[in-house]
Amino acid sequence: MKKIRSRIGLCSVVLAIFLAGILVLLNTYRKNASEWFLTPYNRHLYSSENVLLTGTIADRNGVVLSYVKNGERRYHANADVRMSTLHVVGDPYGKIGASALATMRDDLVSFSAAKGISSVDEAGNTVVLTIDAKLNAAALEALDGRNGTVCVYNYKTGEILALVSTPTFDPSDIPEDIEENPSYAGVYMNRFLSTTATPGSVLKPVILQAALESGLQASDLDPAQSGPLIDWNFTCKGVNRFPDGYVNCPKVHGKQSLIETLADSCNCAYATLAVALGPDTVSEGIRKSGLTDSYKVGTVNTAHGAFRFTGIYDYQLGYAGVGLYLDQVNPCSLLVYYAAIAGGGRAAVPNTVLEIRDENGKLLRRPETELTRELLDASTAEYLRKALSEDVRLSYGTDRFPCAIAAKSGTVSQSKGASNCWFAGFTTDEDKPYAFVVYLEHGGTGSRAAGDVAAAVLSHLVP
Ligand SMILES: [Zn+2]
Repeated sequence: MKKIRSRIGLCSVVLAIFLAGILVLLNTYRKNASEWFLTPYNRHLYSSENVLLTGTIADRNGVVLSYVKNGERRYHANADVRMSTLHVVGDPYGKIGASALATMRDDLVSFSAAKGISSVDEAGNTVVLTIDAKLNAAALEALDGRNGTVCVYNYKTGEILALVSTPTFDPSDIPEDIEENPSYAGVYMNRFLSTTATPGSVLKPVILQAALESGLQASDLDPAQSGPLIDWNFTCKGVNRFPDGYVNCPKVHGKQSLIETLADSCNCAYATLAVALGPDTVSEGIRKSGLTDSYKVGTVNTAHGAFRFTGIYDYQLGYAGVGLYLDQVNPCSLLVYYAAIAGGGRAAVPNTVLEIRDENGKLLRRPETELTRELLDASTAEYLRKALSEDVRLSYGTDRFPCAIAAKSGTVSQSKGASNCWFAGFTTDEDKPYAFVVYLEHGGTGSRAAGDVAAAVLSHLVP
């Protein structure tokens, strides 16, 4: 009897351990099933070339941009739509790392741990993007074969309406020489999110902000003058000499009010401001503007801007103050800065994802609008709104644009070929709260070439 009892006891212990093991296994499965399911080894989800074989991507109007049919990932029928939305949607192989197809696999797969593999079909979930396919195609057309980026977004909701990065390619007809042909260099990079470039004069509002918010007075710049900085007059002689070098303007601008220095984009005036502020105040002003921050756009972190102010000569600080020297900005953080001017000091963080729905159309997730921290004091934002509107009236011409805008251009000369250039700004009608940025590599001048791209895209948005 004793022996039987002890054997029953042993069996009970073994059974208890077995059941406990089953419970641990089931719990681990429940926790990790979707993750295991998403591994690239799962042939129900991926082709042998790592193409995701479930999930649909649509634009904000429900236009389907990418879907799976008969075991193949497919794209919109129109080549301009495919090429203009490529960097947001993604290529079939996930080489465009900052795209929805590469970063939103969890959201695209409709997986139920209870049903397992049978819960997955080709449609999957639908990621509805904020972009408008037609507007993207219009932006690609406006770029006219030049490399660069265009983005327009609603600075109150954060919704990106157009985001094009070039060079691009057709994901339904991938060029055979894409890896060797130099014209495709950097093609997998989303220039708006992941790159930085020399800003040139689009940085000038940031220096003006730093000067206004530092309490600099007209007399600090010229003992013969008095009153606040906004009453300062600057006389440009075409060149501004410092002990170790000089900063010059393309022409002699003569006597200007503070607002006119921005409209004239007078390098001598902004070099004077930067040097008067000193490297620490300029550096702090740039930090406050958010240009060295990284924003999370949908699922992607943007590139940080970079500046160097330590151990530099005055003329180098002068150059840094006109957006040259070693200044590097990311197009997205520059866009957000201009949006914050429009928004009174803050703006919505841009986003590419409107919502995620399951195959029956049921809403699964809708990202909330996020606001930036305060990038400018409200009074500075108000002054810059006025100054940038004047900039358009005095330098670019209001007739070129389909609606009232406030903007600044930038042109950065290159040792070879045409200049790189920028145009950044916003619409001044608060019921149509759009901010935009255009960047062109070897595109020409900011006021003309980049300004024309902005005008063309806005004309589709605000007819
Ligand atoms: Zn000047």
